[in-house]
Amino acid sequence: MSEIRKARVATASLAGCFGCHMAILDMDERLIDLMSKVEIDRSPLTDFKTFTRRCDIGIIEGGCCNEENVHVLREFRRNCDVLIALGQCAIMGGLPAMRNAIMHSDAPLRECLEEAFITGRYIENKTHNIPNDPALPLLLDEVYPCSAVVEIDYNIPGCAPSGEVIHDTLIALLAGRFQGFERERIRFD
Ligand code: SF4
Repeated sequence: MSEIRKARVATASLAGCFGCHMAILDMDERLIDLMSKVEIDRSPLTDFKTFTRRCDIGIIEGGCCNEENVHVLREFRRNCDVLIALGQCAIMGGLPAMRNAIMHSDAPLRECLEEAFITGRYIENKTHNIPNDPALPLLLDEVYPCSAVVEIDYNIPGCAPSGEVIHDTLIALLAGRFQGFERERIRFD
């Protein structure tokens, strides 16, 4: 008798703080239940840098602040049947998108970088240079939510979402019975 194959899940952290990946680990003992149903492919959790096979579910933490984020996100969209934006950074840009609010300058990105690397109150930068090594990914003009770059199938809200909600959502999706969140489970006030 052939064994039922486990679902393949991949994860990525773009412009995020890894808090949403910590929330995945925060499923605690539920992880044991989940791992009986899924295997992890490309992910910081496995340290696989590329997809080994097509995946059923891709989970994205963080929005897009640079060209590498856009590249990775598009690869996930191409290689995953279902794509989930996990947490507020992926859904709406989150904290990194605070730089989008610097609109009082003709060059808001440059102004932001100057404050971060040169003029900021606690900055000690003897070279007065903004890092520009060619190996660094090119920054985008703004930080974009994942849905501005590719089609996203599901959002799991929160900063970070609870491990319990992530677990229950994945289990429901794998069983084909996800019907949205109960309001009480995604209230943060
Ligand atoms: Fe970190 Fe919150 Fe963004 Fe998740 S949503 S990556 S926990 S700041």
